[in-house]
Amino acid sequence: MQIIKSKSLFEKAKNYIPGGVNSPVRAFRAVGGDPIFIKKADGAFIYDEDDNAYIELINSWGPMILGHNHPMIREAVIKALENGTSFGAPTAREVEIAELITQMVPSVEKVRMVNSGTEATMSAIRLARGFTGRDKFIKMEGHYHGHGDSFLISAGSGAITMGNPDSPGVTKGTAKDTLLAPYNDLEAVEKLIDANKGEIAALILEPVPGNMGLVLPKEGYLEGLRKICDREGMVLIFDEVMTGFRLAKGGAQELFGVTPDMTTLGKIIGGGMPVGAYGGKKEIMEFVSPAGPVYQAGTLSGNPIAMAAGLTILHYLDDHPEVYGTLNKIGEKIAGGIKSSVEKLGLNFTINHLGSMYSIFFTDKEVFDFASAKHSDTVLFGKYFQAMLKRGIYLAPSQFESLFLSTALNDELIGKIIQANEESLKEIL
Ligand code: PLP
Repeated sequence: MQIIKSKSLFEKAKNYIPGGVNSPVRAFRAVGGDPIFIKKADGAFIYDEDDNAYIELINSWGPMILGHNHPMIREAVIKALENGTSFGAPTAREVEIAELITQMVPSVEKVRMVNSGTEATMSAIRLARGFTGRDKFIKMEGHYHGHGDSFLISAGSGAITMGNPDSPGVTKGTAKDTLLAPYNDLEAVEKLIDANKGEIAALILEPVPGNMGLVLPKEGYLEGLRKICDREGMVLIFDEVMTGFRLAKGGAQELFGVTPDMTTLGKIIGGGMPVGAYGGKKEIMEFVSPAGPVYQAGTLSGNPIAMAAGLTILHYLDDHPEVYGTLNKIGEKIAGGIKSSVEKLGLNFTINHLGSMYSIFFTDKEVFDFASAKHSDTVLFGKYFQAMLKRGIYLAPSQFESLFLSTALNDELIGKIIQANEESLKEIL
């Protein structure tokens, strides 16, 4: 495998783009080496500028649930393009996608389309504050909700990968209204409530966090949060930007049977185009302008091309619930195969897995929150990443990310992934 063009592109990019990339984790800082620049992607593969092919286990950080360049989505986008790229006015597609989302996601009675997951979570918190008349909110350590100021406090994903979970530039005034609790710890939430009685507007979390690596909720945890929020008049927000339409048609809330008051969505909802959404109970959503007083807007919100892509994938998932069975089987085969190799090699690494998401943590400890995720040996992860890349497997370039599988992975490719994993582990240990 020769990597020449990517190297020279990265050198050039650093002259014009901070760090050479438009989103920090892409720079491969946490895993060493230079990033590969992608020319195209199709099905289960991405291809770099030197035409090397890699089996995809990130899938654009989640959206490409059916694999890349799916003909159905490509054709919908091309057809939509024939009628213009943006109108800045309401369209029929926005009505259709809103209706569909309310049918698919249990908590969503009304929904507003935005352009990213970041916009969705920022808007959701503002709305929860406007609705309750309270300023503070609870966030879980290591969870990532995009790059809005109030979320860049003990943030996971790229923020921890780059060593800046608390970003400079966020004012003390903003930070004081973000209260932190460890994930999977109901008592910590109760303590925060006792210390801030009647002042907390919302509790936001990734119901199944993927931004500190994949971590699963303990039994009763999500139900417990639901009860606490009901008791305290707090808005429970599930950030399902990663898990929405992935863990089930209706996301983690469907899978675990816990319905939040509001939900934020992104990634799959746009079929690979820049789309996000926030929605929830009617009485809360009616507080958004122009129905209510809380302001939120967007020049490109509900963009017709993005809506065409989003509608296509959502209709497909709605009409083909068997996709989730297929994804679960793929997940079981890959995570199961990796576990067997780990055991065969006499290792004791922790593998967290749910449906089509998984993470391998280089620690023998259980990983159930941010502190335990940080036990993982990130230097070893970097070596593992490079060993896998060399074998043509493209992983997320950070320990603190989940992997996302697609239906494009067939048994032959799954076998290659498992084999590459075993060879890589042998190489690095
Ligand atoms: N929320 C979660 C759970 C995410 O994983 C992400 C991004 O990875 C976001 C919000 C932010 O979404 P975006 O990157 O589209 O702004």
